Amino acid sequence: MAYDVEKIREEFPILRRQIGGRPLVYLDNTATSQTPERVVRAVVDGYEQRKANVHRGVHTLSQEATDRQEETRRKVRDYINAASEQEIIFTRGTTEGINLVASSFGSLLPEGSEIILTVMEHHANIVPWQLLAERRGLTIKVVDVDGPQGVLNQEQYRSLFNEKTSMAAFCHVSNVLGTVNPVKEMIAYAHRAGVPVLVDGAQASPHMAIDVRDLDCDFYVFSSHKMYGPTGVGVLYGKEKWLEKMPPYQGGGEMIKHVAFSGTTFADLPFKFEAGTPDFVGIAALSQALDFIGELGIEAIGSHERELTRYTQERLLNDFEGIRLFGTAPEKGAVISFLYKDVHPYDVGLLLDKMGVAVRTGHHCAQPLMDRLGIPGTVRAGFGAYNTREECDMFLAALRRILPFFG
Ligand code: PLP
Repeated sequence: MAYDVEKIREEFPILRRQIGGRPLVYLDNTATSQTPERVVRAVVDGYEQRKANVHRGVHTLSQEATDRQEETRRKVRDYINAASEQEIIFTRGTTEGINLVASSFGSLLPEGSEIILTVMEHHANIVPWQLLAERRGLTIKVVDVDGPQGVLNQEQYRSLFNEKTSMAAFCHVSNVLGTVNPVKEMIAYAHRAGVPVLVDGAQASPHMAIDVRDLDCDFYVFSSHKMYGPTGVGVLYGKEKWLEKMPPYQGGGEMIKHVAFSGTTFADLPFKFEAGTPDFVGIAALSQALDFIGELGIEAIGSHERELTRYTQERLLNDFEGIRLFGTAPEKGAVISFLYKDVHPYDVGLLLDKMGVAVRTGHHCAQPLMDRLGIPGTVRAGFGAYNTREECDMFLAALRRILPFFG
């Protein structure tokens, strides 16, 4: 079936909005994607027709809500090809997933051991490990990039492993550079050294097929709101053998088998890690986002986005003077980060907004990478399933209008 972007756009009411009297060109998909009507309707349906707490009631509403939540869990399992739904933990997002692993799995890592991260990580995949390191006297080692091209130094990565290494964590796709890291090879290398790996999949899950069994990662985390789903919902995949060994992250209702003041026993997976009332309305609605992606085909979405990225990047390089690109790796996702001369990215972003174009500016929660590249931040355009070639041209035309203001 042909990729009909106009038909896709019809599902997104927000794309009909005007900003300052101009049609919205939404290129901030790396931060969050827009939401198709079917997902919004599922949220409304959850509140209007099915609002009852999950896993606690015998009554019809509670069973319906529970069924919908557990249906999403099975769809997520299939989306990433996990072995079982016991390995799918619902969280609030990527950030919470990493905090859960750093806190719970982290408590099992030997004191004085070492963790390997990369310089291109989002703060969500740095700070939880720093907190753990401080608590337990661990050391963090950092893999470098080759420079503005944004390719991880694989030789250095391998050289960081030694008998003290206890964990490695890195992103599948960089949220600044767009680099698609060779995670399968990196995981295989870590495993040969007996080291488990967490992959931050926040920027991969909306754009490419994920197969956690093929990757053989120990943990994989991502967020619903970046993949056309509702906010406040995320997924942590963990290998059952680790999840079974890990202590609970939070205590409370839902995560217990039996509570007594003499001692408490915990629920089986995945509920051991889902304390309290989850966002069951949002989780149910994520199912619709997965259907949306499934109907289009994740490969088709990815190839559409890569084509837009390639086109826009080429135009930026060929038609403008003074544009510096950050992230030109051969394997690259749907993100373009750039600077115009020495102009602060914030100023470019503000003027683009006046032209109806939404881009992100700043350090993108990747300050160590900005320091490494010696820049304050970038202007970042990220593409989604519904973006068009025409929008790329509108973005380029807007840049052509505003850049002369900076001299
Ligand atoms: N990791 C990466 C690579 C990201 O791009 C983001 C968000 O931009 C996150 C983690 C954090 O995601 P969330 O804020 O949904 O928890």
